[in-house]
Amino acid sequence: MGGLARGTHRYRGGCVPPYQFPHTNKGCIQAERTLQMLGALPCGKPLPRLWRLGGLLKKEKMVAAAQERLERSKKNLQEHLGTGKVKWFRRHLGAWGDRHFRDFPWRRTKDPYAIFVAEFLLQQTNAAKVAPIYQTFVARYPTLGDLAAVPVEEVVSLLQPLGLFGRAERLRRSAQIVLEKYGGKFPRTEAELLELPGVGPYIARSVCAHAYGQPLAVLDTNVARILERFFGLEGGRVKWRSSLLWEAALAAAPKKQVGVWNLALLDFGAAVCTAKNPGCAECPLRSQCDWAAQQIRTPCP
Ligand code: SF4
Repeated sequence: MGGLARGTHRYRGGCVPPYQFPHTNKGCIQAERTLQMLGALPCGKPLPRLWRLGGLLKKEKMVAAAQERLERSKKNLQEHLGTGKVKWFRRHLGAWGDRHFRDFPWRRTKDPYAIFVAEFLLQQTNAAKVAPIYQTFVARYPTLGDLAAVPVEEVVSLLQPLGLFGRAERLRRSAQIVLEKYGGKFPRTEAELLELPGVGPYIARSVCAHAYGQPLAVLDTNVARILERFFGLEGGRVKWRSSLLWEAALAAAPKKQVGVWNLALLDFGAAVCTAKNPGCAECPLRSQCDWAAQQIRTPCP
C-alpha cells in the first residue's frame, strides 16, 4: 500500500476510492462494483468496515425481493378491488360473524371507558383469560375517576395474573390524563386517543368504532393474516404499518357497523384463519381464497 494514504487502495478497475479501511480484497471490490451498479453506492463514497459490505449486498437482495412482493401484492389488490371479490368477502365474513359472535362482557357495553380498559387488557392476551379480570376491574374502578385515584401498585396487583405490569401504569396514567385534559369526558376522536400513553392505532380505532359507531376499520396481525391469505397480499413484517394492508382493510370494511365487522374479523382470525393450522377445510371463504388455492396447487410434502 506504499505511497497511498491510509484507507485507500489501488485495484484493477483503476479507480482509487477513499476507503476508510485498508483491508480491501477482491470480494470487497466486486461487492462495491455491484452496489454501484445497483445505484446504492456512488463512486468515491466512503465505506464502512469490510464486513458490512456482505450485509449491504444481502440487504440489497432482500429489499429487491420485498419490492417485488409488494408490487405483486399491489397488482393483486387492484385486480381484486376491480372485481366483486371484496364484496363477496365482506358478505361471507359478515354472515360468519353474525353466526359466531363471541359474547364477552366488554362487547355488551357502549361505555368508552369500559371498552378502553378491555382493549388495553386484550393486547396480545387471551380473551378468555381477560374476561374474569376485566369484570373485577370495572367493578372495582367503575369510572375514570376511580382508576385515576388509586395507587398504581393496586392496579398492578390486580393485573398480575395477566403479567401486564407496564400496562397497569399506562392505563392509570391515561385515566389521569383524560381527567386533567378532558375534564373526565372520554376523547371521541382517534387523534385524541392516540395521545394517551400505550394507545396505538388499533386501540384508538377500536374504541371509536365500538363506542361511538365511527366507520374505522382496524388492522392488527390477525386481520393482516386474513387479508394477506384471502387476497394473496404481502404486507411485510410490521403489518400495521403496511399501507397496502391498510388499503385492503379499508376497502373490505362495510360502510356501517364497522365495530361489529372488526369483531367478526377478530373472531374469525382466532377460530378459523389461525396462524398455525388454519381450518381451511371448513372455511366459508375457501372457494375464493388465494391461499387455499395455492395450497391445492402446491400441497405440503
Ligand atoms: S381458506 Fe384457509 S387461509 Fe383462506 S381464509 Fe379460510 S382459513 Fe384462512
